[in-house]
Amino acid sequence: MALMPVDQALQQLLADVRVLPAERCDLGQLRGRVLRQSVVAELNVPPLDNSAMDGYALRAEDARRSCIPVSQRIAAGQVGEPLEPGTAARIFTGAPIPPGADTVVMQEDCEPSGDGIVVREQPKKGQHIRPLGQDIASGETKYQGGERLSAADVGLLAALGLAEAEVSRRPRVALLSTGDELVEPGEALAEGQIYNSNRAMLAALLEGLGCEVRDCGIVADTAEETAAALEQAARDCDLIVSTGGVSAGEEDHVKAQVEKLGELRLWKLAIKPGKPLAYGRIGEAAFFGLPGNPSSGFVTFLILVKPYLLAMQGARDVMPQAWPVAADFDWPKPGRRQEYLRASVEVSGGELKASLYANQSSGVLASAAWANALVVLPEGRTVQKGERVEVLLLKDLLN
Ligand code: AMP
Ligand code: MG
Repeated sequence: MALMPVDQALQQLLADVRVLPAERCDLGQLRGRVLRQSVVAELNVPPLDNSAMDGYALRAEDARRSCIPVSQRIAAGQVGEPLEPGTAARIFTGAPIPPGADTVVMQEDCEPSGDGIVVREQPKKGQHIRPLGQDIASGETKYQGGERLSAADVGLLAALGLAEAEVSRRPRVALLSTGDELVEPGEALAEGQIYNSNRAMLAALLEGLGCEVRDCGIVADTAEETAAALEQAARDCDLIVSTGGVSAGEEDHVKAQVEKLGELRLWKLAIKPGKPLAYGRIGEAAFFGLPGNPSSGFVTFLILVKPYLLAMQGARDVMPQAWPVAADFDWPKPGRRQEYLRASVEVSGGELKASLYANQSSGVLASAAWANALVVLPEGRTVQKGERVEVLLLKDLLN
C-alpha cells in the first residue's frame, strides 16, 4: 500500500474535523482559547487626546514666552478646564489634554520660574499628545473569530471593556498508553520494562493546547483490553489519543479494534518518524493512534494532531509557519518519506543555521528535548551544507 503524503493526510484530516460548540468564558480564562465571535470596538482607546508625558500642556505658540503661568493641574483620571491662552496646564501621563492646548512639553524640558515655567526649547506643535482612538478606533473590527488568543489579545479585549467572550469549548481528550512493557514513573521497573514517557509528554502537549485530558492509563496488549479502553474513552470524549500498538505486529491491536468499534479513515503516512499512524472515529469521538516510539509521538502530535485540535476549536490558522535557514549538515541520501529532523537553530556567523541531533532514531526522545526546531525534508530531498532548508520552530509548535 502506498503511503499517504503528509500534506494530503493533513487536508483529509482537516476536512474531517467536527467543530466543537462555543461557550462564554471569563476574561481571566481566555488565553489560549479560540475566539468564536467577532469583536467590533464600541469605544475609542484612548477615549480622549491625552498626554504621553509628565509635563506641561500649552499652545506651542506660547512656549516662547519668558514665563508661562501654570493655570491648572490635570492628573490621569481627571478632566481639566479649557486652557486660558498664555498659560500652561501641569499635566501627567494619561491625563486628557485640556481644550485649547495643542502641545505637551515634558517636565525635563521646563524650568520653574516664579509661579510659572520657562520652556527651554521651542517644541514641535502636537508633540507628546496621544490622539483619541490611536490604539483602537471605535467601529473598528478588531477580531473576526477564529483567532487563538494570546496574552496581548486578552489585554486588548480588556481594553475594549469585555469581561467575557465567546470561545470554543475545551476539547475533551482521552489519553491511552498501550504496551505491556510500560510502567508509570514512581513505580519499580522489572526486567524488560520501561517507563511510560508518552503519557506525561502528551498530557503536557494537550494541556498546553487547552484540552481537558482524561488519562485512561496503560492498556494491555490484548484485543479485549484495547477494545474496552477504546469503548470507554469514546463515550465522553471529543478525541481519543492512543500511543503504541498501531503497527501490524501480533501484539498490535489498536488498528483492528478501531475498525471493529468504529471506522479507520487513515493508516500509515509517508512521514518519518511516525509512519504507523492511524486516524478514525469511534462513535462521536475522533481517534488518533500515534506510534509508540516517543519521538514519533512527539512529531506526529505536533504535525498532525495539533492542527486538528486547533481546527476542532474553530481556529483559522492551524498550520505552523516554516522558516528558511541554512543547513549546517549534509543529507546525502534521499528519503522515501517526509522527514522531521530534530534540530537546533542558532545564529552562527550572522546567519541562522540548523544542525541536527546526531541520533535521529524514533526511539530517541532526547533528540526532541534537545531540539529547538524540526527540519522538514520532503521525500527525495538531499541537502548539502549551506543550502536552505525549511524549519518549524518548536517555540511555535509548542505554543
Ligand atoms: P509500538 O508502537 O507499540 O510497537 O511501540 C514502539 C516502541 O515504542 C517500542 O519500543 C515501545 O516499547 C515503545 N513505546 C511504546 N509506548 C511507549 C510509551 N508510552 N513510553 C515509552 N516508550 C513506548
Ligand atoms: Mg507496543
